[in-house]
Amino acid sequence: MIGANILKIKEQIPASVQLIAVSKTKPVEAIQEAYDAGHRAFGENKVQELVSKYEVLPKDIEWHLIGHLQTNKVKYIAPFVHLIHSVDSLKLLETIDKEGRKNNRIVSCLLQFDVTNEETKFGFTPQEGFELLNSDAFKAFTFVRICGIMGMASNTDNEAQIAREFAQLHDCFNMVKDILDEQGKGADCMIRSYGMSGDYQLAIKQQSNMVRVGSAIFGSR
Ligand SMILES: *Cc1c(COP(=O)(O)O)cnc(C)c1O
Repeated sequence: MIGANILKIKEQIPASVQLIAVSKTKPVEAIQEAYDAGHRAFGENKVQELVSKYEVLPKDIEWHLIGHLQTNKVKYIAPFVHLIHSVDSLKLLETIDKEGRKNNRIVSCLLQFDVTNEETKFGFTPQEGFELLNSDAFKAFTFVRICGIMGMASNTDNEAQIAREFAQLHDCFNMVKDILDEQGKGADCMIRSYGMSGDYQLAIKQQSNMVRVGSAIFGSR
């Protein structure tokens, strides 16, 4: 079932779009089933859950942290995490840089942007992202790599609104890419992580190239 769901989604999306299977709250057996179907990229929103799954599952899995990250937990994932999608403050990026240095490992990150008016969502405004990337503190980091942006649309049935918000996330991506290019750090900036079970097709129309899909693969939570 899980394997079939993954294959079905992969058939629907272009080869240029990477599928992250969001396995939060699901048991390791479910992840193993997806793994056995050939899938390797999984997303979790809690550090503790991600680490405990990492410890027991095959080591060639790419682990993506997609939920809000507290600075005091960065140390647990810095040694192995594939991509942190949820960088939402300069302080967090500073901590990731520090932990990357300790592990002698450049940690790949996305900047999370919030283009909704929902109180519950984390992320930078475009202006805050602009200021972060142009700050002296940011320019001094050597153990973080900004690979693109992440975001979410509002929780609504209004498809025009969702499409508009995804287009705004694409604008954020272009801004980040331009600033990094100016600083000579833009080569790795190519990821646009937006789109979930309910809206990944709309997201891809608005140039997402990384979709984070949970319930459409593993069932409802
Ligand atoms: C849970 C979650 C998803 C996946 O949501 P589904 O609707 O189950 O596909 C994607 N991104 C983030 C940040 C999440 O927390």
